[in-house]
Amino acid sequence: MNSHTQQQILNAFRGATRSEIKKVTFPLDFDDVDFDRREFYAWRDRKMPRRAYLVVEHDGELVSLILNRAEAKPSRRAMCAWCRDVELTEEAVLYTVRRGGSNGRRGDTLGVLICADLNCSANVRKRPPAFHKGTDLAAIRQEQIAGLSQRVNTFVAEVLSTED
Ligand SMILES: [Zn+2]
Repeated sequence: MNSHTQQQILNAFRGATRSEIKKVTFPLDFDDVDFDRREFYAWRDRKMPRRAYLVVEHDGELVSLILNRAEAKPSRRAMCAWCRDVELTEEAVLYTVRRGGSNGRRGDTLGVLICADLNCSANVRKRPPAFHKGTDLAAIRQEQIAGLSQRVNTFVAEVLSTED
């Protein structure tokens, strides 16, 4: 994705209240973020342990969303719905996002089981755990990157589909 400033990210929030946006805390390493190697930018709010944020270029537009980590833990180790990292490098947890428009204001949310630390972009760039000689690793990586991008965008489209 392209690089974005903190102000651009704040301006791109959808379905968030002004006070929620005011409380957003960016990570300390924000200036070192390599946007180039990411399909989305996401981070956990160090001041609010259950809160995280997702920033995606969606249909040519920057979209930021608030993610809330659910209290309940999945009963067994699950695979991330976005990066589908088979090695389960990161614990996958349930995050919910408020749906767009009046549905969201009434408390309607969409949930997704994804990497707790949201490092999916790094996970899809790893070498596959097992591969044969002659395997086209670059092609596999491209495919994984495209898949991640597509799944994140499908989720964002669903979140925004109820906007009025
Ligand atoms: Zn993931």
